[in-house]
Amino acid sequence: MNEMPFTSPADFSAGVASQSPTERAYWFVFQADRLLVELGPPSPHPSGDPRVPSRASWAKLPLLKNNNWLWFEPARTLYLGRLAGTDCWAAEAPREAEAPPPGMGWEGLRALFSVLEDAHFAVAGRAIQLLDWDRSHRFCGRCGTPTEAKTEERSRVCPACKLSAYPRLSPAVMALVRREGEILLGRSPHFPPGMYSALAGFVEPGETLEQCLAREVEEEVGVQVSRIRYFASQPWPFPNSLMIAFICDWVSGEIRPQAGEIEDAKWFKVLQLPKLPSKISIARRLIDAAVQEMREGS
Ligand SMILES: [Zn+2]
Repeated sequence: MNEMPFTSPADFSAGVASQSPTERAYWFVFQADRLLVELGPPSPHPSGDPRVPSRASWAKLPLLKNNNWLWFEPARTLYLGRLAGTDCWAAEAPREAEAPPPGMGWEGLRALFSVLEDAHFAVAGRAIQLLDWDRSHRFCGRCGTPTEAKTEERSRVCPACKLSAYPRLSPAVMALVRREGEILLGRSPHFPPGMYSALAGFVEPGETLEQCLAREVEEEVGVQVSRIRYFASQPWPFPNSLMIAFICDWVSGEIRPQAGEIEDAKWFKVLQLPKLPSKISIARRLIDAAVQEMREGS
């Protein structure tokens, strides 16, 4: 896979209303953060480690004409656009909805990475964010009046005070700090045991991405950096981030992990790296790219 996970597929065109409904449509139905999929049998345990949950050998999206097949009344339904000429719809199941029919199940989105087709996985990331946005903007944030969805663009408008709400993204900067033969990785208290990753933090109002990076690195580990180079970006739907990743060089300072935020941070030799995040996230690609760059001697 070349595309970053959750990147909009090239053959996806977003829309707010279906102009001429297609014969069949893909349904992205969520109950909280879990997606409704047809599931294959569990795959044989890859690691033999009982702590690693077993995964379905395959998962598919329901492909049906309309939502008549649902066994509950959806809390909300949104048109998403078209994927390779097929309409895509999102729907939200109420929490009290009964269990799915045989052969179907609710699966967490992360667990469907590399199980669900990549393009479907990406549109699912869009769907869960838009459902969440729609659910959270039913009332005007300024005056409390119920909002109305616009049909010509993705927004909800307050009929009383005219405030418009658009789907919101929270930009976050990720930084991989390097110096001679080593990279700086840290771990948050919520990481799986032994796993380290690049540093990351949300952009504050008034900051450039470069200022955010310098501030986050200084706050989290107490070092100063320079030569900030853009690497790549990734939509990250947990819950609504855009990750923007950079490589930079250490200039000065000894590692001093920020209490409460960073449990541990260290310089790792590129030939002796700890457990790293999975390839679902840009963090892993950033680390892999930097290590490659350093091994090639640039
Ligand atoms: Zn209002």
